[in-house]
Amino acid sequence: MTKINMKENSFQQSILLALCCAAPLLVQKQATAAEEIDGFRDTPMLPGGKWHLHDPDRPQPRVVTPGATFSQGAPAPSDAEVLFDGTDLSKWENMRGQPATWRVADGYMETAARGGGIRTRGAWADFQLHIEWATPNPPHGSGQGRGNSGVLINGMYEVQVLDSYHAKTYPDGQAGAIYGQSPPLVNASKPPGEWQTYDIIFESPRWNGAGELIKKACATVLHNGVVVQNHYEFMGSTDGISAAVPWRSLSKYVGPHPPELFIELQDHDNPVRYRNIWVRKLGERDQPSQSP
Ligand code: MG
Repeated sequence: MTKINMKENSFQQSILLALCCAAPLLVQKQATAAEEIDGFRDTPMLPGGKWHLHDPDRPQPRVVTPGATFSQGAPAPSDAEVLFDGTDLSKWENMRGQPATWRVADGYMETAARGGGIRTRGAWADFQLHIEWATPNPPHGSGQGRGNSGVLINGMYEVQVLDSYHAKTYPDGQAGAIYGQSPPLVNASKPPGEWQTYDIIFESPRWNGAGELIKKACATVLHNGVVVQNHYEFMGSTDGISAAVPWRSLSKYVGPHPPELFIELQDHDNPVRYRNIWVRKLGERDQPSQSP
């Protein structure tokens, strides 16, 4: 009996010892896994800084908890064009100019997996865009595969849409980033499944008659009411949207284009939802009033 007890005791001590040794290793392994951030260290350096394009070592933007609501459900001003009121996709088409086929239900539209992006039939040069989006809940995937979509202006200039709530990726590719160029000033993300807002003020680039760029594209972006891009001047077309600027290559302007641009919503094979989208041209001072 005593011998058996001693054996059991010895066995229990061995188990305890093994657990005590293994526990720190397990914790360490989990911590290492938690800090694994997708990205690249062999990409070109971004101009004027010390970070690679899509650099996982770049500091993660500070987290800011946005207010409970900001412009969720904001009714369109009188001079805005409503692009989606929750009922139909008549203002949108696919990239071949055919009617858009994304699913519309319960006041939102949802990206169709491998159905391709959709773009507005209309075009605007300098504009204010209101758009609301929600990533899947429960979330799926990690890094760039977690609720990825985007507002792609003219298929050239991407404001990233991604689930960046308690989820890390390379900072120049997270929610609120100008993709591959400018991380958001802070991370103002809401949890997956919650409606989030972008209020984007965009100015189109301009070229002179000689084909010289005389004004860069520019964007101010409010994410859930928090400024994440402040009059940011684009380095050019963002990478990965078009063959002209392949993924993981530095942004550049690919040549003159008309100032009036369509607005595209990206299909990145993740089911992201959109609702309440409207756009209005930026006003100009000192114009004669159209009112009698
Ligand atoms: Mg995207």
